[in-house]
Amino acid sequence: MFGGDFRESSLAEVPMRYRSTQAMIGLIHLVYGCESCASLSGMGAVDLVELLYITDELLLEESERLVAAMILRKCNSPSSALLVYSKTKQERARLLGVDDGLHKGFFEHILGVEMRLVNRVKLFQSIVNSSFGNSFIEDLENCIKIKLAGSPKR
Ligand SMILES: [Zn+2]
Repeated sequence: MFGGDFRESSLAEVPMRYRSTQAMIGLIHLVYGCESCASLSGMGAVDLVELLYITDELLLEESERLVAAMILRKCNSPSSALLVYSKTKQERARLLGVDDGLHKGFFEHILGVEMRLVNRVKLFQSIVNSSFGNSFIEDLENCIKIKLAGSPKR
């Protein structure tokens, strides 16, 4: 797992910042090649975000993509979307790279995923009415501006 020129490859023990127990169990599944099972799919949104940070710290890019996709699927539920958004906002200063990627994907997902209108309204309301409402509106505005600037002229 830690082969190569990394300092960790020569250590008997690799120190890791403790994350949730569920996230650590998820990590074990991923490093042993599991990509989907009841244990992984049963993980809550917050534990998945923790797992995303671990895969980023350990440079497990394939697993990081897999976990980000799992997180976005959870975001079809308003309560999970709020948890994911607030968790990544709280930790933004710590892991900017992951958060940026997830936030971009997050907004593309909640704007574009197939979803009944009433459910999309509930999802947006849950975040706008939370303590993260203002930053959500700002992030959403930025995401739309970037999309509009990058879309081809017709
Ligand atoms: Zn598994």
